[in-house]
Amino acid sequence: MSQDQEFSPSEMRWDPVYRTWSIIAPERGKRPGSFLRKEDFPQKKLSDEESPFSYLNDHATPPPILKISDPEGKYPWKIKVIPNKYPVLRVEGIIERSAEGLYDIISGVGAHEVVIEHPRSEPTSYDLSVNEILEILKVYRERILDLKKDIRFRYIMVFKNEGNLAGATIAHLHSQIVALPERPLQIQTLLNSMREHFDRKERCLYCDILSEERKIGKRIVFEDENFVILCPFASQYPFELLILPIEHNHAFEFQSDRLLYALALTLHNALARLGKSLDRPHFNLAIITAPPAIPKLTRPHYWSSLKEDFHWHLRILPRIVFQAGFEWGSGIYLNPVPPEEAAAHLKEINPY
Ligand SMILES: [Zn+2]
Repeated sequence: MSQDQEFSPSEMRWDPVYRTWSIIAPERGKRPGSFLRKEDFPQKKLSDEESPFSYLNDHATPPPILKISDPEGKYPWKIKVIPNKYPVLRVEGIIERSAEGLYDIISGVGAHEVVIEHPRSEPTSYDLSVNEILEILKVYRERILDLKKDIRFRYIMVFKNEGNLAGATIAHLHSQIVALPERPLQIQTLLNSMREHFDRKERCLYCDILSEERKIGKRIVFEDENFVILCPFASQYPFELLILPIEHNHAFEFQSDRLLYALALTLHNALARLGKSLDRPHFNLAIITAPPAIPKLTRPHYWSSLKEDFHWHLRILPRIVFQAGFEWGSGIYLNPVPPEEAAAHLKEINPY
């Protein structure tokens, strides 16, 4: 049976972790020009003199929270973490919860940091070496561990917007860390689906997905002894990637240097494959780690199985299609590329 017959005309697929439907509609992918081309959405590339994040413009950003020195001594720093100049949430103050009739309000307390990943404005994520990626991952780990000490925060997220199609406003390699006073609904959904699966089966949902995917094989792009790169069964976007650690663990920030090195290798591999097959697409990346487990007086056992039921992971979404009214109005994702086809394509690419 050919791929076309297998998927034609379309299929609705349920994601058991994120609890979303995707419509895998391969016919739509065949329309000419159905993928976005980043050349059609040019973003002004800044010189080192112009970029506010460059090593030449340290005066333009707030004093750093963390600075990693350049081992070669060429630049005043290699990676720099600064508070966001325009934070979505502010770190000062206490969290107050109030109500206006049936509406809930929480004061906008949190943290919003920018990780400037390179002193120069030229490189993109696709240019980073494995060791440079490793240093960035270590910075994420250090910042999450530090922010977790603040018991006001209920969730800490690390994400990257690479390129303007992915929402980046400054074309200088950076990522962001946001600490929130409330868990986002999507993370709560994830926590619920993973805990309910564990309650019923005494197994981790992602460990089950891993073993199933490794058995089937057709959605796996690459695997070594530490990580698997795969295209999820109910992929929301074409060429969406999920990077799963093979060894069960609930939190990214508790991983050793050895495992972060393995993750840097995997991430480098994944980006090389995407870069070569889709001409370095703009993308979003997020590290999904367990929330701080702060027991409530009313629910003392709420987090009791978190270490067993939650499995940290990393998601990459290449921005090669726009989402439109259908996705917005329904919460259902329309994906023109079957993940099996995306995986088969990416698997063939030589990342080295
Ligand atoms: Zn697991």
